[in-house]
Amino acid sequence: MRFEVSKVLDAIEARLSTDPALARAVVDLSEIVRYADLDGGRPASSVRLGLVIDALGRRVAEENVPVFVVAPRGLLSDTDLTSNERMVIRRWADDGKVEVVPQLDDRVFEVAELLGLPVLTRTRGDSDRHPWVNEPGRLLAAVAGEGGTPVLMARVGRGEPPQQADRSPLGERLLARVWSCPEPNCTSFGSGGDPDSPFADMRTYTSPVSQPPPSLRGGVPTCPRHGAQLRDAGPRAAVEVLSVRIDGVIRRRFTVSTDEPVVVGRAPEGGKGVMLGQWLTDDARKWISRGHVQFTLRTDGNLTVQDISTNGSGVRPGGTVNDDERVALRRQESRTLAPEDVVELYGGVQVGRSKMWATGGVVQPESVMAEAPTMALRKFERG
Ligand SMILES: [Zn+2]
Repeated sequence: MRFEVSKVLDAIEARLSTDPALARAVVDLSEIVRYADLDGGRPASSVRLGLVIDALGRRVAEENVPVFVVAPRGLLSDTDLTSNERMVIRRWADDGKVEVVPQLDDRVFEVAELLGLPVLTRTRGDSDRHPWVNEPGRLLAAVAGEGGTPVLMARVGRGEPPQQADRSPLGERLLARVWSCPEPNCTSFGSGGDPDSPFADMRTYTSPVSQPPPSLRGGVPTCPRHGAQLRDAGPRAAVEVLSVRIDGVIRRRFTVSTDEPVVVGRAPEGGKGVMLGQWLTDDARKWISRGHVQFTLRTDGNLTVQDISTNGSGVRPGGTVNDDERVALRRQESRTLAPEDVVELYGGVQVGRSKMWATGGVVQPESVMAEAPTMALRKFERG
């Protein structure tokens, strides 16, 4: 049983992100683990995070939707969790995958407001600093958990379904800069320490371009983990968020920044880049090269694609479905992409800017609970 729980936690881990460009909702882990009615099990269980992540995926009809998880430090010593669960959460924190804070305060709502993200919660919250939490029309869009148990979604933006809203103006300003924490091993706002240290490779820290938003204390940007005042370390690289869409289904999002180009293909070299192999038909696998196209975001804001494949690719201007308008892209050819242009590696295997595809196109996204122990989760099996 423990083996299977570990697999579920691995699947959940792949969905954790404090990257402001990729996270799609914010959760307080200490709240989620206590939704005992979700599975009728132990008082606290980290596996419940998986049920909530699945509910979000179904809500936005998209595969591989990441969540921004905040946990109060006390959760690391909560004996209602197993020692294995506490160890896993501690590792997530050490790796910068979840944000562990000394006191939760209103960090969840702060992140939601700065990033324009919905909060997955059942509580209305009570926040003087974020009065929107209790405005009518902002709360209680029900996201059905499997088995019919509702998981409730608060939201920053209005509209139905609750989509991502815009970042707050303050959020935009904070995320235009790189921040540096004086704590030597800060995973969120660190520099990785001395690059000449023999242990430099072993340290985990968030790349400057995907740093989470600072916490504001009395108007001062502060490290949410350490409570220390952050230093402004200069401008942050610009980012464009792209989606991989295969036969109409959004499989995953990824970012390309002005810092580094991104290769997309069947299995890009060195484990970097965006790997599509697992989602392709046999014919598509034969056509698509290991590294097929490369995206570059230029400092002037232009996004370009370069073909680096054997068989070539194409661009559909404005996302046209008319094959006569498809522009072929031969090996080494590159092209600047207009806002709604779609790059096609093979028929139906596409990459475009995420904002142009409002719906993820999938009714039943793949569950992170696939490896869940059936005894504990029998309640959720579909008839
Ligand atoms: Zn810090």
